[in-house]
Amino acid sequence: MIQHNSVQKVIDAARIEEIVRDYVDLKNRGSNLTGLCPFHKEKTPSFSVSPSKNIYKCFGCGKAGGAVDFIMEIEQYSFVEAIRFLAKKYQIELEEKELTQQDRAEELEIQAFNIINQWAQEYYKNKLWNSQEGKNIGLEYFKERGFLDATLEKFGIGFAADTPSAFTQESIQKGYNIDYLKKLGLTNSHELDFFRNRIIFPLYNQTGKVIGFAGRVMGSEVKIAKYINSPESTVYKKSKTLFGLHLAKNEIRKQNNCYLVEGYTDVMSLNQAGIENVVASSGTALTEDQIHLLKRHTHTVTILYDGDNAGIKAAERGIELIVKEGLNVYVALIPDKEDPDSFIKKHGYEGFQKFLNTEVKDFILFKIQLLHQESLNDPVKRSGVIQEIVQIIAKIEDTVKRSLYLQNAAKILQLPESTLIESCNNYIRENLKNKSFAEKRKTLANDEKIIEDQKEIGFKKQNQTFLETGDEIHEKELVRILMLAGNNPWKNTEFTVAHYIIENVVDILEYFDNPFYAMLVQDVLNKIQKNESVNFNYFVNHPTKHVTNLAIEFSTFPYIYSENWESKYGIFLNKKSNGTDYIDDEIETVIKHLKFRKFNKVIQNLDKQISENPNSEDVIELIKAREEIKKIKNKLFQEVWKIES
Ligand SMILES: [Zn+2]
Repeated sequence: MIQHNSVQKVIDAARIEEIVRDYVDLKNRGSNLTGLCPFHKEKTPSFSVSPSKNIYKCFGCGKAGGAVDFIMEIEQYSFVEAIRFLAKKYQIELEEKELTQQDRAEELEIQAFNIINQWAQEYYKNKLWNSQEGKNIGLEYFKERGFLDATLEKFGIGFAADTPSAFTQESIQKGYNIDYLKKLGLTNSHELDFFRNRIIFPLYNQTGKVIGFAGRVMGSEVKIAKYINSPESTVYKKSKTLFGLHLAKNEIRKQNNCYLVEGYTDVMSLNQAGIENVVASSGTALTEDQIHLLKRHTHTVTILYDGDNAGIKAAERGIELIVKEGLNVYVALIPDKEDPDSFIKKHGYEGFQKFLNTEVKDFILFKIQLLHQESLNDPVKRSGVIQEIVQIIAKIEDTVKRSLYLQNAAKILQLPESTLIESCNNYIRENLKNKSFAEKRKTLANDEKIIEDQKEIGFKKQNQTFLETGDEIHEKELVRILMLAGNNPWKNTEFTVAHYIIENVVDILEYFDNPFYAMLVQDVLNKIQKNESVNFNYFVNHPTKHVTNLAIEFSTFPYIYSENWESKYGIFLNKKSNGTDYIDDEIETVIKHLKFRKFNKVIQNLDKQISENPNSEDVIELIKAREEIKKIKNKLFQEVWKIES
């Protein structure tokens, strides 16, 4: 694990123009450099690099970020991989945290697991191609279903014979540790083979390492499960695995779309027919981790399911998660009791494409239509349906998308749009309220983890501010100052602006309306407590993409200034061209406004406690506290609006 200060050293050393130049031919244009965007096809340059801000931004496809982000994007690296890559380029030695005894044992175990899984795959594969049983039963099964040898090779398919312990015996003979065989579930507790008389589908992680197996039983024994999977281990987590992703990921990126199917053979069939951007969630509903895996490669998912009712139900499971994660979801229902496997074999590549061209529908609109038709002549059902639809739309965090869906839903349901908007906003408020503050920011407590894991822990797209309240406007302004000017000295002291801000807002942090802003302030607080500084570079190269985006937004988009805001909110909105030269007065004013608002909430909270427990022993203390805060609030009021007392 890389030490924090090493990470910051790399981030501070990395010059965006030097890094981009390795991939893009850049030309000077004013204070910026421009070139052809490496992330989308274009003939005239819309890709811009700002050496002074140390960021890049493409005005064509919208991609933007800092040096670390650029490397992550172009090399498809994780955050940690990008840091290692840049450290090498800038010859910075990374200080690694020492592994504990336990870490080391775990690492050894993982190595052993990988070796054994590799061996098991070769063993089963060999049985499929070279044993009589494998050829007669296994190969025959696939041949009958039209699979080519090359496809079986590609997916590493194997066969487990119907013998009690042939695999286990041979493994022990070869010197593999029986405890590891048991832990991987290849051998059961009686030291017999786990997979018997089954076709073996190896399960790979996204880099193509075998991490486990699924076995489909041959013959028609009714009493045993058709499919069994390896148990979870340190290398295999079912919820984090998508079948076929290691083969599909490049094509998913190229097509900017991923087909999602139910079965292993569906994936294999489509792949064989030339449709390679396809994965299966292995029969379960999509999990959050699987969605994050997909999101690394595309934001569009097309679900292909059987057209019967079960298929529709299956498509609904997990849909809320996908919507919430901001993916575009389409659906196509395979007709005539077919599945993707049988359909493509019957109709071929072209027939399949034709089907997709006409049958792919926006999932949310599809669902609205479906619910609408079901409830046409049933007023009671209809009001339930409207609520259900609004609930789904409320989960969409992108405000533009959300309003588009509301428009369309109003048309389909023949209702005034305003009714839907109002009811949607109610859901959004409810959702926000139901999350406890602790829940909203608990994931940030351990910011070590953020560095180690570039998945978007904690922030999870919560930066989209809907219904921006007056409080949120101030919270955002505070974050803007922290990001752009946090590292500036505070009034000729040895402290920074960030120190000053944190000291002033730490007590009111739990009253923040917007959990994302609260988490960002908490993040800075954690840094300061460790005596680490935060500068603009830190945010623009943050492992969480949403933090990067916000930093870019602050530094590149001119603020739309409203005179009204200055008198109403005391926000000066960065009138100067360079966002970093805030003056101390402005910062003080923003903090005072925010505190004034939050103290109102503190007082309300105390009022509630007092009225709920009028006879408790603490009530006198609570009243005292309330009066104290009222006094401070009144003083703030006079300061904020410059009223002489
Ligand atoms: Zn671009």
